[in-house]
Formats: sequence, C-alpha cells, structure tokens
Amino acid sequence: MLGTLKAIVKINENLTYNLLNTHIMDKNTICVHSGTFIDSEMKGRTTPIYPSTSYAYLDMEHKRYPRYFNIPNQGAVVKKVAQLEGAETGVLFGSGMAAISTAMLSQVKQGDHVILQKELYGGTIAFVQSELPRCGVEYTFTEGMEVADFEAAIRPNTRLIHIETPSNPLLTLVDIEAIAQLAKDHGITTMIDNTFASPINQQPHRLGIDIVVHSATKYLGGHSDICAGIALCSEQKAEAIHLSAKNFGGSINAQSASLLERSLKTLNLRVQQQNHNAQYLAEALEAHEMIQHVYYPGLASHPQHELAKKQMQGFGGMLTFELAQGIDNQAYQEALKLVAPSMSLGGVESTVCSPALTSHAAIDEATRQAMGISHQMLRFSVGIEDAPDLLADLNQAFQMVVMAHA
Ligand code: PLP
Repeated sequence: MLGTLKAIVKINENLTYNLLNTHIMDKNTICVHSGTFIDSEMKGRTTPIYPSTSYAYLDMEHKRYPRYFNIPNQGAVVKKVAQLEGAETGVLFGSGMAAISTAMLSQVKQGDHVILQKELYGGTIAFVQSELPRCGVEYTFTEGMEVADFEAAIRPNTRLIHIETPSNPLLTLVDIEAIAQLAKDHGITTMIDNTFASPINQQPHRLGIDIVVHSATKYLGGHSDICAGIALCSEQKAEAIHLSAKNFGGSINAQSASLLERSLKTLNLRVQQQNHNAQYLAEALEAHEMIQHVYYPGLASHPQHELAKKQMQGFGGMLTFELAQGIDNQAYQEALKLVAPSMSLGGVESTVCSPALTSHAAIDEATRQAMGISHQMLRFSVGIEDAPDLLADLNQAFQMVVMAHA
C-alpha cells in the first residue's frame, strides 16, 4: 500500500510513465492520477482550485500569474494531457483557436511560408487567411491529402506544416508518420489538430509531430460546458509558445481549468464508449436504405481503413452520413428526439449538424461541392448513450419524414 502511494506521488510529480520503475501506466490511470495533486493543507483527494491573480514574488522561483500560463490548475491539466500524448509539456489556453493561433504564430516570422492541409476546420482556415498575410507570412493549402501533395508545396522558406486528421467533416486521413518524416527531412516544424481523434485514439507526437493542438472544448472537456484549448510539445517548443502566449494573452482561469481537469478523469471511459457507439451506428447506417454514404474510418469500406488501423487505436466518435436524395435534411433533424441538432461536438450527448449550414457555411456552394460537402450530409458527434437507443431514434426520424411525404 505504501509502495502504491509513493508511486502515485511519483507519477503526479515527475510525469513519468514508470510506476515503481517496473510498470507502464495505461490510459485510465493516467486520466485519473497524472497531474492531479492532493491538497497538502486539508489532505483532500482532488487538486484545490487556486483562483488567485496575485502571487507573492519575493524569493519565489516562479512569478505566477494566470496570463503567464503557470498557475497550479493550468499545470495539472497540462501534465495529464501531455502524458496522454507522450509529450514533455504544453500550454493550456482559453479556447482551441487561442491554442492554434498562438502555437502557429510562435513558430513563424515575416517572410516564412506555412503549408496547410486542404481539408481543415473552418476557423483555422479563417485565421490563416486573415491573419498570416498581416504578419507577412505566406501560406499554401495543399491540392490533395497525400504526402506528395505536401511535398509539392514545400518552398525554401517553408517553416511549418499544419495537418488535421481525421478531417472535418469528411473524416479523410493524412499519414501522420509520413508527413512528420517529410518535414524532418526538410527541417520543417509540424503541427496537428488532434481534436477529432482525442489523445485516446491517436498520439501524433509519438509518431514524430512536433506540436499537437486540441480544442479542449470538445472531447477533453466532453460535457459541452467548457471552452479551452491546449498545445502539447517538447520543453523547447513550449518555450517559444509560452513567449507568444504571454503576449497574445489567451489564458484560462483556474475555475475552468479545474473543471477541465475533472472531466479528463473520465476521458478514456467516455471515448471508448463513443468509439463503440460510432462503430455500431456506422455499420447500421451503411446498410440503411435511406442513407447514400457513410464516412467513418472504422468501416472496412473507408478508403483509408488500413491507414486508420495503423495510426489510430480507436476510430473515434465522429461519423458523417449522407441522407438519400428526396429526404428533407432539416425535417429529418427536427424529427430526432434523442439526438440533438446542435453545433460543436465531443460531448457526452449525441448531436448532429449540417456542415453546409454550420462549419462550412461561409464557403461558396461550388467550392463546397468540389470539397464533397453536400446538402444531404449530416455530421454526427456520437455520445455515450446506449447505441441501440441512438439507432432507434435515427430510425424513427426516418419513418417520420417518410410518413410526412406519403
Ligand atoms: N479544431 C477543431 C477540429 C474544431 O472542431 C474546433 C471548433 O469547432 C476548433 C479547433 C476550435 O476550437 P474552439 O472553438 O475551442 O476555439
């Protein structure tokens, strides 16, 4: 018992996978214990909330301040997620976009060039298009999603490659290890948005990617009630991100960080259930006569299923499907009783949204069609409910819309 307690203190303090130097901890244990520190005053089991914005500084090793990204509740979250990702450290932000924008700008300067994957979260596209030119940074979106497409975009001044896999909303994959190797061969830094997979299903830092970012608003928070973001990387890269972060100021307060730390304790349990549910639904929907197509990396029919098996440990809780022609998309969403038509993703509750009306609404129709995003498409964020209940809801909504047109 004493040995176990010592080991827990050790994993909390030293960020090591090594339990008593003999045992490698798995994901549930990391989720529960890493980063969390007990209340030394009252001996409570959970990390106390440190809401101070004013800390003593005389003779202190660290000058603490929420916008210096170094208060205890921020640190607890960083340690937990960094250990899940296999990264040395990280920086916790007030939103996913704060993490993405700060991490990206911390790695480039005027005259540099950035390569971005063709299919990306709309907010990242908007950031790149409006902010990088102001900083004198050039950018290229790849023509396709193959390694050769990234290679073709490399210029002498390319400093950063940014990818996102599985992509939103088509769940297309990019070969993470191959991109990391390509970038290393050219001395280019790599960054990935790992939001859709979560660190439970995919750890790109272990495959060679330098900086891993998440919208923690999604799976890490997992209850649709926290807005946060995080970047995970080496100590060296974190130094540069910290410097920019202090200047841009996208910090998170102690209360939200504490709520996020609590959510992370069940991250593996939640994501495993979401993986299971999404696979069940993807298989059922693929055989459904009112569905034209299902996009899910866990299906044998997904063109990159083999790559998914290679680089993912689970296929995730996100799937996209296309309703058969003639089914009114909006009427179908309105007929759902359990699954909520709702924006965002990654919560314990199942939600659907139409990419053409939400994440990709700002893009013109022709471009959207060229990207393969149709008006019959629905993006499904599968929750932790019981999968047969979710399928029953999807089926009753089909009956309702068919009856309405009969
Ligand atoms: N990355 C992805 C894949 C997202 O879906 C989102 C938000 O929807 C973001 C980043 C941005 O995160 P946030 O809304 O927390 O700024």
